[in-house]
Amino acid sequence: MKRIVVLILSAAILLSAALSFAEGAQGEAQDSPRKPKIVVLATGGTIAGVGEAGKTAGYKPGSLSAEELLSAVPELKDVAEIEAIQVCNVNSDDITADIWLTLARTINELAQDPDIKGFVLTHGTDTMEETAYFLNLTVKTDKPVVLTGSMRPATSISADGPMNLYESVRVAASDEAVGKGVMIVFSDRIYAARTAAKTSTYSVMALAAGETGSIGVVRDANVFIYETPSKKHTVSSQFDVSGLSALPKVSILYFAVDADPGLLRYAAENSDGLVIAGAGAGEFSEKWIEIIKDLSIPVVISSRIDDGVITKDNLLCANTVAANNLSPQKAAVLLRLALTEGPLSPEQLEKLYLEY
Ligand code: ASP
Repeated sequence: MKRIVVLILSAAILLSAALSFAEGAQGEAQDSPRKPKIVVLATGGTIAGVGEAGKTAGYKPGSLSAEELLSAVPELKDVAEIEAIQVCNVNSDDITADIWLTLARTINELAQDPDIKGFVLTHGTDTMEETAYFLNLTVKTDKPVVLTGSMRPATSISADGPMNLYESVRVAASDEAVGKGVMIVFSDRIYAARTAAKTSTYSVMALAAGETGSIGVVRDANVFIYETPSKKHTVSSQFDVSGLSALPKVSILYFAVDADPGLLRYAAENSDGLVIAGAGAGEFSEKWIEIIKDLSIPVVISSRIDDGVITKDNLLCANTVAANNLSPQKAAVLLRLALTEGPLSPEQLEKLYLEY
């Protein structure tokens, strides 16, 4: 009798265990895996541009809201849980240091939230490379930060914005993109902030990265990153903008035949630092040498040529610093940040231009 009771009890325990296992399995099947959370920070640009239906030019950038941009890509709801923040809504030629500081601070604050996987910034293409490089040097997170935009306004035939936004969210949500610094995703390609540049005034392939090329590609849901940027960025960058309300003023002077030395003198008197977009390997006329050699503000020498490098041996004036392979506009971003650390000798500046 005792044995029968034990047997019945064991059978009951086994049955209830089997039932609760089956319930658990059913519950798991119903709960789909949690989607990564991505924050989209919208700043304007052509991607938010509205104009005459079908046309690619003569539109107003920065017209659509972040929500309107996202609603054009319903596929995103299967990729990520998205939080949208409208930071500003401007043509990217109206981006300011103020906006840069707001972006860096917002990302640095939100990056502390363990639920957030990555960030996407929508931005005009004209100055996208400058914002990307600034953030590359000032955000303090390994989480992916991706900038994107478009060349055709939302109202044109075959607008490129929705696909660029979709691919950017894919990259920001991917494990592969962690620790790669700030990136630009454009027309299926992934670029590192340091080397990306706008290279066309009209083509949808408007972003490129000169001699070094893209670091990866996106194909539908797949993100492939083949290269890791080697210069210092994000968590290894020394630049901390958390307490800043403005950035030093740096002017870029473009050299050409007969370039007016008066403009150079004016810029030197009204700036904290200068970047020269020299000819060839950072060269300029005797008239410019006469002025530049006596300047006491930092002067960084870059080139109006897209590809190539400028080294210390190329310099025409001993008080200047080579920008290495940074474009004039990127050299200016680094100089503005460097100047926030107080007065620097040409040797200290030279080190920064080699490290970043
Ligand atoms: N002018 C526009 C901007 O930079 C161009 C673009 O977004 O493609 O905001």
